[in-house]
Amino acid sequence: MTQNIVTEEKVIEAVKKAVAETLSGNAETIQPDNSLIKDLGAESLDFLDINYRLEQSFGIKMARHFILEHIEEMFGEGTAIDENGLLTEKAVQFLKARYGEAFPGFRANMDIDEVPSLFTIRTMAGGVMDILNTLPEKCTKCGNIAWKTDDGVRVICGSCGESAAYMNGDDLIKEWLTKIQADNKIC
Ligand SMILES: [Zn+2]
Repeated sequence: MTQNIVTEEKVIEAVKKAVAETLSGNAETIQPDNSLIKDLGAESLDFLDINYRLEQSFGIKMARHFILEHIEEMFGEGTAIDENGLLTEKAVQFLKARYGEAFPGFRANMDIDEVPSLFTIRTMAGGVMDILNTLPEKCTKCGNIAWKTDDGVRVICGSCGESAAYMNGDDLIKEWLTKIQADNKIC
């Protein structure tokens, strides 16, 4: 369900903090549309660290594989990335069907190596928010509808204290892809 316990503002703040801690930078100078790689100097390995910090903060499991890898796995090698390492038209259709304008910059024939530079504070926050929005209506332990947060980040059951159980990032991506395919949005 779309939860309204953790706000987007709070998520963006948490992503800035995770990035600043990883890169030993200052969260206050980071802007939501900063590219992690181009503007903030992050390297590929830093993403693991940033994801780990976000997982710890929110009690979630971020996707281990980007959506393009899942497309290749589900629909066949070469579906998303061609033999020259360029993004296919089909990959762009999937990305548009999933993210719309929320994840700008994807275009057919772009080099796969350019994709990581498209990640910004805002798109990372969007990824976190998508997972938070898998919050079940009721507590998985006591069955009550009593989700709450004390710090604006961690959601727990106000009735029994159980931590919120979210879907993990990779499963969520697979579910979207299956749905996009079933809805015949991709030709
Ligand atoms: Zn409970």
